[in-house]
Amino acid sequence: MSSIAFIGLGNMGAPMAQNLVKAGHQLTVFDLVPAAVKGLTDAGARAASSAAEAVRGAEIVVSMLPASKHVEGLYLGDDLLSSIDSSALVIECSTISPDSARKVAAAAQARGLAMIDAPVSGGTGGAVAGTLTFIVGGEQAALQRAMPVLQNMGKNIFHAGAAGAGQVAKICNNMLLGILMAGTSEALALGVANGLDPQVLSDIIAKSSGRNWATELYNPWPGVMDHAPASKGYAGGFGVDLMLKDLGLAAESALSSRATIPLGELARNLYALHSSGGSGKLDFSSIVNLYTQKAT
Ligand code: NAD
Repeated sequence: MSSIAFIGLGNMGAPMAQNLVKAGHQLTVFDLVPAAVKGLTDAGARAASSAAEAVRGAEIVVSMLPASKHVEGLYLGDDLLSSIDSSALVIECSTISPDSARKVAAAAQARGLAMIDAPVSGGTGGAVAGTLTFIVGGEQAALQRAMPVLQNMGKNIFHAGAAGAGQVAKICNNMLLGILMAGTSEALALGVANGLDPQVLSDIIAKSSGRNWATELYNPWPGVMDHAPASKGYAGGFGVDLMLKDLGLAAESALSSRATIPLGELARNLYALHSSGGSGKLDFSSIVNLYTQKAT
């Protein structure tokens, strides 16, 4: 068992850290929001008063923050790297730009620290169940060291390539997720507008060629799946603004590589429109509301 510092205890970080406590690791946790820390201290983790205090003496540092600016701000701006033991391993799980991931990894390497980017897929349900998919970029040796800890939080662990490659793969996946959630919402709204029951139509699609992750596990229509954010007022889950961030990362990557992503760009505009209407903090499956709001 290892001594682990865990920084960022939001919708994803909190259940991931809980699973590490359950597996028997010694956890020291930090979040800017004191209320986020409480659930972990109740479970047996130790609270630190700063990120620097949390990482001191830790064998492994895990971070799960919103976006690139938070990750660069923490490791480079606040120079957290200088407080981490040079024998420690850093596992950075946030979804951020590949360039940011490479920049922080290079700074870590310059201090002799091993670091991997390990963004996740599987949503808050996967974080709670410990069945996340980790998509790793970095040295194979660092991944091998991280493996036991990743296995306490996830089920499928992929090595995408060198530093930053985990983020590239994650961005491709989330661009597809944004597109398929908008497409599923559009299809359900069309069926309902033409008199179909959303449950019946969802059951049909789930067993037909249009089936996908949304129709199987995360239906955007309220009441179709009890456990989905759609049936809980779109609370929790994966925020519209986080999806918008990931579609922005896809657009940046497309620009720099001269790739074309017409559907990804269209999806980015749909989520931006939805967010600007005040839905940024709702789960991203609330994109269905764009199709169901009627003009008065
Ligand atoms: P969140 O906003 O719920 O949580 C982020 C947490 O980080 C917050 O508690 C915030 O207070 C904390 N934080 C920010 N800056 C900090 C700092 N400097 N020091 C300490 N704590 C700090 O976000 P989330 O939904 O948990 O997502 C985290 C990351 O995981 C994002 O990059 C997101 O894109 C990615 N992700 C989310 C999901 C999902 O379903 N929610 C799924 C896969 C990946």
